[in-house]
Amino acid sequence: MNLVLLHDDDFVGADRVRLAGRRLTYLREVHRAALGDRLRVGRVDGRCGSGELVALDDDAATLVVTLDREPPPAAALRLLLALPRPKALRRALQCAAAFGVKELVLLETWRVEKSFWSSPLLAAAALREQLLLGLEQGGDTIVPRVALRRRFKPFVEDELPGLLLESRGLAADPGAAAPCPRGVAAHVTLVVGPEGGFTQYELDALQAAGCALVSLGVRPLRVEHAVPALLGRLL
Ligand code: SAH
Repeated sequence: MNLVLLHDDDFVGADRVRLAGRRLTYLREVHRAALGDRLRVGRVDGRCGSGELVALDDDAATLVVTLDREPPPAAALRLLLALPRPKALRRALQCAAAFGVKELVLLETWRVEKSFWSSPLLAAAALREQLLLGLEQGGDTIVPRVALRRRFKPFVEDELPGLLLESRGLAADPGAAAPCPRGVAAHVTLVVGPEGGFTQYELDALQAAGCALVSLGVRPLRVEHAVPALLGRLL
């Protein structure tokens, strides 16, 4: 937790918060905070700053906070991710949020297991919990938006071309001939496939919609490893 995220109901005064639960445990056990310590804080969907620990007991920590900075700028990248298994999804969500990605689309493809769509992790509150963990890691406050698209064809044919009007479309595939570009200045729409990979039909449809196929090399990586490798290369 590189930044303690503050929620509206933490505020007990204009500049005073009381923290309990996971954040209290973190302050006591990981940060080993002592009275007078200053910690990095940020208000969910708001500004960042610092908080001085003014009281600490078994039930709560009280901080006096100054929120005087904007959060870091958003990454100029939208991530379209074929819905992976829940463990990989948790990691991908946290990773994307930590990298500053603000727009995610979870997508149905042929090789997405149907049962993944009934995972409790797809409930709005559960998605948000993972995203907040990523924001705490990345020192950011702006919660990414997540959209679910359960029909590949209409999404890729009707929606994706519009998204690519002002964004460079890149679909990651280990079989692609072109290497994934590095440090792209333009806004990117990155498409990452499911654990079983894209079908040829899907690769064709993504290309027809305006995506270039790009590779990180011939070794197929797990989704939760491909996502940070691609983001680290592109951003
Ligand atoms: N068996 C599949 C592997 C899928 S890996 C195959 O051979 O295609 C899951 C997804 O992660 C892929 O669809 C791709 O989007 C991304 N990925 C994994 N390894 C990659 C690599 N070396 N280059 C580009 N993308 C990769």
